[in-house]
Amino acid sequence: MPVRPRLKPISVVRRPSEVILVGRALEATYLDDADGSVTALLQVLSRGEHTVAELPDAMRGHGFEVTEAEMAGAVEALDEVGVLLRADADAGLDPATRRRHESNLRFYDLFAGLDRSAVDYHRDMAAADVLLLGAGGMGSGVLQALVGLGVGRVRLVDFDVVEEKNLARQFAYGRDDIGRRKVEAARDWVARYSPGTTVVEAVDERITDVADLRRLGAGASLVICAIDSPNDVHLLVNEACFALGVPYIAAGLQYSTMFYWSVEPGVSACRLCLELDREDESGGIPELLDRSVVLPAGRVNRATGPIAQLLAGYVTLEAGRYLTRTDPPVAAAVYHTVELADGMRTTRAEWARNPRCPLCAGAEEAR
Ligand SMILES: [Zn+2]
Repeated sequence: MPVRPRLKPISVVRRPSEVILVGRALEATYLDDADGSVTALLQVLSRGEHTVAELPDAMRGHGFEVTEAEMAGAVEALDEVGVLLRADADAGLDPATRRRHESNLRFYDLFAGLDRSAVDYHRDMAAADVLLLGAGGMGSGVLQALVGLGVGRVRLVDFDVVEEKNLARQFAYGRDDIGRRKVEAARDWVARYSPGTTVVEAVDERITDVADLRRLGAGASLVICAIDSPNDVHLLVNEACFALGVPYIAAGLQYSTMFYWSVEPGVSACRLCLELDREDESGGIPELLDRSVVLPAGRVNRATGPIAQLLAGYVTLEAGRYLTRTDPPVAAAVYHTVELADGMRTTRAEWARNPRCPLCAGAEEAR
């Protein structure tokens, strides 16, 4: 079926000899338009009714004689700027799915173009299979956000039961769930909330080593680490994800600092690289990443509901980037923090591959 390009719902501002397209919040594209033909084309494209071959006729209605080749060139240029969509792309989904995922589709529109539609991104999400470690403060929030996005499958791993104190922030559970296994209560929540869009495989077990993770993660598209034990969990997940060839995202709260980061094995630097950097005292690592613990703070959970939700939001947005490739992951080997006790100040610090990292060296050789 020939594509009918349609202008995204963006602001178009007309000035004497130019047109300004105002798309994303901070971006504007300036186009010369001395004779008004660009404005006319944008008006035609805003209706999304014509194929490229039909555009010369439509432009004639606005008093402009143009060739199909000129229109093809103009459409290609506008698509490169990121302001065009395939007009009838949503028709690829049944009406119930369209209604259920309306805002997800409109979010994907931000990144869609003539070659890849919002529906294509949605289908990637629906085909995704995520290993989610932990159904606690952050994990249960991530689960809820993934289900909202219509992720195809979640393998949820946890060994805890729901306690009264969890109700401050674990909104997938209610009073009736107190004493139940979290994985079972979470699976029930998913079934009640959005039957048919997600299959949750509930695994009631404690992670102890890399072998557990390799077994649980085989065939997954992404791993999300929302647990903080055992102590070296990040290194275990890092190693397992290298073996599986699967990216992972981790996050948490340390004292008053929220943090999240991700690793794409073989592409970005990995968590072991960061540990080795910390060992190489002269490694020139950013001060932010240099955190050798002298006195461990002890396990105090300060994560209130909004903190858990904010972290889950950051993590799930990053998950969406890996699963749909709307845009590149923003936290791959980049340590993001939000400082709750300092005006919500955010920081980001990249780390590089450490030459001593055997995992990254192995991935380099395998290329
Ligand atoms: Zn590495």
